[in-house]
Amino acid sequence: MPVRVETFDSLDAAASALRSTRSARFFGGGTLLMRAANHGDQSFDTLIRARDPSFRHIRSESEGVSIGAGVTMKEIIAHRDLSFLIPAAQAVGGPAVRNMATVGGNLYANSPYGDLAVALLVLGARIEFVGQGGRGVEIEEFMRDRDRHQGSIVRAVVVPRPRDPSSFRFVKVSRVKPKGISLLTIATYLPQSGGRIRGARVAYGAMGPRPLRATAVERLLDGQYLDSATIERAAAAACDGIEPRTDSLASSWYRREVVGIHLKRLLTGDRR
Ligand SMILES: Cc1cc2nc3c(=O)[nH]c(=O)nc-3n(C[C@H](O)[C@H](O)[C@H](O)COP(=O)(O)OP(=O)(O)OC[C@H]3O[C@@H](n4cnc5c(N)ncnc54)[C@H](O)[C@@H]3O)c2cc1C
Repeated sequence: MPVRVETFDSLDAAASALRSTRSARFFGGGTLLMRAANHGDQSFDTLIRARDPSFRHIRSESEGVSIGAGVTMKEIIAHRDLSFLIPAAQAVGGPAVRNMATVGGNLYANSPYGDLAVALLVLGARIEFVGQGGRGVEIEEFMRDRDRHQGSIVRAVVVPRPRDPSSFRFVKVSRVKPKGISLLTIATYLPQSGGRIRGARVAYGAMGPRPLRATAVERLLDGQYLDSATIERAAAAACDGIEPRTDSLASSWYRREVVGIHLKRLLTGDRR
């Protein structure tokens, strides 16, 4: 089936075309959509693009850094205000994919994809949509209810900068290095005050259909010193309340077995 591509100069025009065209999908970098089209996906016959410059901005704001949803992984890696996101952006595919893959597309990517989204979730990013004023929605709410936002265009993501860069850690575990797909992705944000963790956030990718928070681990870490006893307790609870997925890369059982090991390595700073 032929696929029509419509390109608009403004995001507003693209959003209204998306609303009024049946079987249309918004096109970010196309790394997933073009693959789907090539594999014969017939769920869409029109791709809507926007070349609005505001879609590609990276701007420091009081709240954090506002990143246009059309910004690519390669652009994140090259931007000096986004150095804290380099490990996550660098984890997405190989150079050719990172050259095209956008922030907006990563938010909608199904597991085992969505590595950048795991980092955005742990940092408490906010998602802004085209044509919807106000403050947008917290990424957690967006992830919980992502299907409801199909048909909307994400305009930008506002990411709070970690106060202390060492409080944010990210690891992607894959069988093939360096370009393998995620078997498990973990991001932690553990700001400290007086030596104790305050406001712990831990997120996983590839453990469910989309990135999720490890709330049992967060509860164990919060208010504690990051010492070996705390790390052992966190690792033991790594899978509490979570039912890992089984896919072609790993079974639910395997993910359950290894998540604590990788969480412990991340928390101790063991970079194996
Ligand atoms: C070979 C290969 C390797 C890959 N490896 C990884 C990897 O290691 N890690 C990883 O996370 N991903 C990986 N991916 C998946 C993908 O490249 C990334 O997730 C990427 O960020 C998707 O962005 P995109 O702009 O290409 O999305 P697109 O293909 O353009 O779109 C994907 C979905 O998102 C929607 N969308 C896109 N932008 C917006 C927006 N602004 N607003 C609303 N909806 C939007 C589209 O409508 C579509 O449903 C890989 C893909 C390939 C082909």
